Amino acid sequence: MMSAQPLWQTGEGRRPDLWAVVAIVLLASVFPVDLFPGAPHGQHGVDGQLSGKQGQVLLVHVPVKGQPTDIAGRFLSRRVPFFQGESGPVGLLGIDMQDAPGTHELSIDVTDSQGSKRLSFNVLVMKEKYPVQHLTLPKDKVDLDDESLVRVKAEQEQVKTALEEVSPERFWEGGFVEPVHGTISGAFGRVRIINGQARSPHNGEDIAAPLGAEVLAMNDGVARLTVDHFFAGKGVFLDHGLGLYSMYFHLSDITVQNGDRVKRGQVIGKVGASGRATGPHLHWGVRLNGARVNPYSLLALSVGQPLSARQ
Ligand SMILES: [Zn+2]
Repeated sequence: MMSAQPLWQTGEGRRPDLWAVVAIVLLASVFPVDLFPGAPHGQHGVDGQLSGKQGQVLLVHVPVKGQPTDIAGRFLSRRVPFFQGESGPVGLLGIDMQDAPGTHELSIDVTDSQGSKRLSFNVLVMKEKYPVQHLTLPKDKVDLDDESLVRVKAEQEQVKTALEEVSPERFWEGGFVEPVHGTISGAFGRVRIINGQARSPHNGEDIAAPLGAEVLAMNDGVARLTVDHFFAGKGVFLDHGLGLYSMYFHLSDITVQNGDRVKRGQVIGKVGASGRATGPHLHWGVRLNGARVNPYSLLALSVGQPLSARQ
């Protein structure tokens, strides 16, 4: 259960020799954390390092003077796009569920009227504990037949291609919402070892909810892909811009079409058990510039909202 692991940390890095200070606040599901550029509270950084757990989303606030003409970040060969916030550039950095624990560089190239600079920061990635399930199953229950295998490969390719597109426009804004209320399984990152073989980790969170319950868009976006896939069943992929995607699987019904603009909280489908599912639930996944992140780490985002100190 997410609520059983209130893992939240905040960290910041300061480089007095640089013309900018970057404050990073790690956001988690349980405790709202407000941004305070240059003066974050509740610091848990290790020696001033930026830090976060595997699967978490970091809100990167770069309070630079003026508005850069160009700014682009890079972390572990993934893009970290920035947009202009109220007091400077802001970006979301996704730590993939399997990024190696340890210290990695976040580089930010900033161009303004004075020229170009590269800012470099250390990000400490901490290990997350994921559930491990050992299962022994009859071989014919595990292996796909040739036809299904071909189908699954094609579907994986379709999804991969869709998620590689990065919309330069940011559609999302403000806070994120949970798509359905229900029983959260805590399955994010779970590894199943079936007959001694480790499978791909579970890259979303499962929320058990009644059949037919409304599934809401976590934020504004564009319905980029609607599918009926072997594993995912009926699914919707929303593009929130700047490389942020959310996905909703095992639906009984899809109520949006490819290309539709959707608003936060809009109904995009109904809870079901389509595809490979043992019962009605929503599989909610989020991809952030290629990183598989825990969707619940987005819920406490407070970009663009008034700053206030909280306990
Ligand atoms: Zn799932």
